[in-house]
Amino acid sequence: MMQTSLQKPVGTSGIGVHSGRFVSVRLLPAEADHGVVFVRTDITDRNNIIPARIDHAIESRLCTKVENADQVGVSTIEHFMSALFGSGIDNVRIEVDGPEMPILDGSARPIVELLERAGKAVLSKARPRLVILHEISVSLPDGSSARLSPADQLELDIEIDFDDPVIGNQRLSYQQVNGSFGEQLAHARTFCRFSDVEGMRQAGLAKGGSLENAVVVDDGTVMNPDGLRMQDEFVRHKTLDVLGDLYLLGMPVQGRVTAYRPGHILSVRLLAALMANPQCWTIEDGSRQSKSAHWQIPEQAVAASV
Ligand SMILES: [Zn+2]
Repeated sequence: MMQTSLQKPVGTSGIGVHSGRFVSVRLLPAEADHGVVFVRTDITDRNNIIPARIDHAIESRLCTKVENADQVGVSTIEHFMSALFGSGIDNVRIEVDGPEMPILDGSARPIVELLERAGKAVLSKARPRLVILHEISVSLPDGSSARLSPADQLELDIEIDFDDPVIGNQRLSYQQVNGSFGEQLAHARTFCRFSDVEGMRQAGLAKGGSLENAVVVDDGTVMNPDGLRMQDEFVRHKTLDVLGDLYLLGMPVQGRVTAYRPGHILSVRLLAALMANPQCWTIEDGSRQSKSAHWQIPEQAVAASV
């Protein structure tokens, strides 16, 4: 398999779900081995380039954020990352003129459509993949846990467990094969409980959130007038999120992710633990980099993961 990029630039715009800020985004073709890189075009006095990689990830409860050494960052990148992974795009430059990616309709479907509009360019360099050799797991004090283990392809086994009866306990097994992302995950929207909205707003979050870009549940009821897109939309969205976080490894992964009550902090800890244990993985067809050179994991991330 060869690396890919876009055939032509495409753009979109919208508000950030937490910042409430309206931003414009451009996705541009990039050369082989470039990876997924964000560029903050509104920042001109510091380094505004932020690679979308685990060594740039900042622990953040409600979204996935990457930041560079000049503390220039972009948050809520997970749905874009998931759409890129699910669509098989390896290399892209993403320009954004604000601190948070737009939430669009709360799912990855508008992003998949954007990528389809751009078209896929096949580049003349082999695509490396990260192969899981030995199991590694992490857990958090809240009872959530995640594990990476060897498998013949990429598989995600995700379980969620919420008090609200409309969400409840849901489980999904997802295998990433051609077309599976668009069919099974892309249209699942982000969600929250109405009881959490006030707390998030007081914390300066969810300023851009609405029934237009999130499913909101309140004590057994879906508040959105049109209801759910599918009955298990919640676990499908969480699977979408995990897939997006996994792409912070910078290349496709061959292995199984098993997660119970996943969240972005859990994802970042799992990937940091993986990086800190190089005996657990290898890179195949790795024309891109030596194993040790690709990621520089912050020491505190490694310490936090064990
Ligand atoms: Zn999400």
